[in-house]
Amino acid sequence: MSEGDYQALLVPVSRLAAVSQRRTQLLARLNVHTVLDLLRLFPRQYEDWTKLLSIAELKEGAEVVFKAEVARAPALQRRGRQSTVRTVLKDSSGMVKAVWFNQAWQADKLLKGLTAYFRGRLRRYNGSLEIMNPVVEVIGQAETETEAESVLRLHPVYPLTAGLTQGVLRNLVRQCLDQYLDYLPDALPAELRRRYHLCEAGYAYRQIHFPADQTAHDLARRRLAFEELFLTQLGLRRLKSQEMASREAPSLALDPERTRRWQESLQQLPFKLTGAQTRVLARISQDLSLTRPMSRLVQGDVGSGKTVIAGLALLQAVLAGHQGVLMAPTSVLATQHYHSLQKLFPRLDWQLALLTGQTPARQRRSILAGLEDGSIDVLVGTHALLEDQVRFAALGLAVTDEQHRFGVRQRLRLALDPQGRHPHVLVMSATPIPRSLGLILYGDLDISRLDEMPPGRQPVATYTAGRADWSRVRDLLLRRLKQGEQAYLVCPLVQANEQLGDLLAAETVWQKLSADPLLAPFKPVLLHGQMKAREKQAAMDAFSSGQAGLLVATTVIEVGVDNPNATLMLILNAERFGLATLHQLRGRVGRGDKASVCILFSDVPEGLSRERLRLLCHTHDGFKVAEADLKLRGPGDFFGTRQHGVPDFRLANLYEDQELLQESQEAVTRLLKQDPLLQQPADRRLTAALDCYFGWSMAQPGL
Ligand code: ADP
Ligand code: MG
Repeated sequence: MSEGDYQALLVPVSRLAAVSQRRTQLLARLNVHTVLDLLRLFPRQYEDWTKLLSIAELKEGAEVVFKAEVARAPALQRRGRQSTVRTVLKDSSGMVKAVWFNQAWQADKLLKGLTAYFRGRLRRYNGSLEIMNPVVEVIGQAETETEAESVLRLHPVYPLTAGLTQGVLRNLVRQCLDQYLDYLPDALPAELRRRYHLCEAGYAYRQIHFPADQTAHDLARRRLAFEELFLTQLGLRRLKSQEMASREAPSLALDPERTRRWQESLQQLPFKLTGAQTRVLARISQDLSLTRPMSRLVQGDVGSGKTVIAGLALLQAVLAGHQGVLMAPTSVLATQHYHSLQKLFPRLDWQLALLTGQTPARQRRSILAGLEDGSIDVLVGTHALLEDQVRFAALGLAVTDEQHRFGVRQRLRLALDPQGRHPHVLVMSATPIPRSLGLILYGDLDISRLDEMPPGRQPVATYTAGRADWSRVRDLLLRRLKQGEQAYLVCPLVQANEQLGDLLAAETVWQKLSADPLLAPFKPVLLHGQMKAREKQAAMDAFSSGQAGLLVATTVIEVGVDNPNATLMLILNAERFGLATLHQLRGRVGRGDKASVCILFSDVPEGLSRERLRLLCHTHDGFKVAEADLKLRGPGDFFGTRQHGVPDFRLANLYEDQELLQESQEAVTRLLKQDPLLQQPADRRLTAALDCYFGWSMAQPGL
């Protein structure tokens, strides 16, 4: 067998016979551009043609398959634009009526005496059984064993787009398999296939499209899903091993005198650390003292107190004579962190700087200079930090908050130090990622969990409401405001948008509330991503200082915003948000010791959306919310896996394929131990596969 070469499979589909320009365009809508794309357009499901019954055995209700002869010339009836074709089918065991609605062409096709396979559902009509709209597979004149076999199997059902039929796609895929499958390299080395009982690529591709039977399909799916998980993790892990294997980080161990100073700052905090915070901090402290770079994820539900952990870790770096950086996904959050660090450690004389995309050029230049000459100890900022001009004299620790908001790419960019010094890396995420997804997203990180809330927290009472409840909710809002408490109101849009119909926009809602004579005295402020940085800051300042009682916002406040005096969260068009996002939003309240309420407004009818919202009402644990979300929606759109820089999975199901996930993870570990740079000829094919399947080039460091 030939080694194969992915290049041979990258030919455009337009090269295939039967693919016109029009079809090329239709296929492009399915993201199919090349022969390889077509081979990797996996069926969504299958029609089962494997159980052949005789007519006497047919029962109503279920899909049935039988072989029969057309016993009577079909009768076509038209009524306006509607039509019916009726005939009778027979085999040696009996007869059954058949009817097709609006398929007039069947009348010409189903000649009397024709023998074919039929698949459809039976109903009882006027006292007799009748098969409705059966799919017909005509057998050639000279029926042979193989022709029967080609029908009596699982038939693929592909995702379609208007203008393309199953029949066309099936033929195209079959044509590709026949002409090109021999050129397809097997991405998985033979030894690995043997170890994990995986079939060969050629067999897998043929059987995933046209399975001989269920067993063959299962073997094929297992192999391809494994490959998908394996390659994804390999890509991520290899990025890490390439960059980390040879790396050294500065040891940030503290001598006794500096340890004492660190302890002192800890004692002076406005609160006592929780057990979980103490435990996680001890791990971090230990990691930091080594010369192996730390790569640790701290995962903790909203409000579990991650900021102080970042602060104490940064302090250790600074006391050890190095610099630290704290990166946040939004300028609002970065600014808040900057102030939090000042508040948490008021007596420290460390030099903090804040750098965001909006920092004026002059100030920016002076900050950059301060970082380069070492006079600035800790830099807090946004993505602007990632730009190449930012150089540190001695970066010891890089902390990324709300990791899920950054892609993998950005995380690794930050880890690269232009001077060849490698900081320890700490990432923090409030998004409770189910373990299965964590393996994929953070396969390269050690994970610590903050599984304890600071004392005194009460769960946020959560309710659903409809538009009709608004006046009662407004009363509640007024009562809270009068007590000196504050509230958030979150809208799915910034501005009204006709296309999106009656979705509520922050600007409109804010205008309405500001015009409400009872609410106006509480000075509602507006905050959304399209505002200028200065306006955003002014709004945040007004809200944190208590000047403004009500903050009308979009999801910009989803992450990080911390105002313990806010006790009411109102979310409009709640059905528009993912559960994870709703949970994050809810986490903006309930941060102090006052009882807090979250109200999810939605006018959608009963159904999955409602069910999801109700789930939130009685689930307060972020991990449970995430698991439930994954179960309800499937991993495909689980708060946008794409956002994490992880390719979509076509076959693997992160929820159901836990075992494959673990096996594939083990396989990746084993492989990288044996051949860390993937230099063996068999392993080089993996690099090519990653390139072709995911468009990743592992050859480029940092993606
Ligand atoms: P998150 O994990 O969501 O980033 P924060 O770090 O913003 O949480 O902390 C939430 C709130 O809890 C802040 O107001 C913070 O000062 C407070 N906090 C953190 N740790 C403790 C603690 N151990 N005891 C009491 N309050 C705490
Ligand atoms: Mg936070």
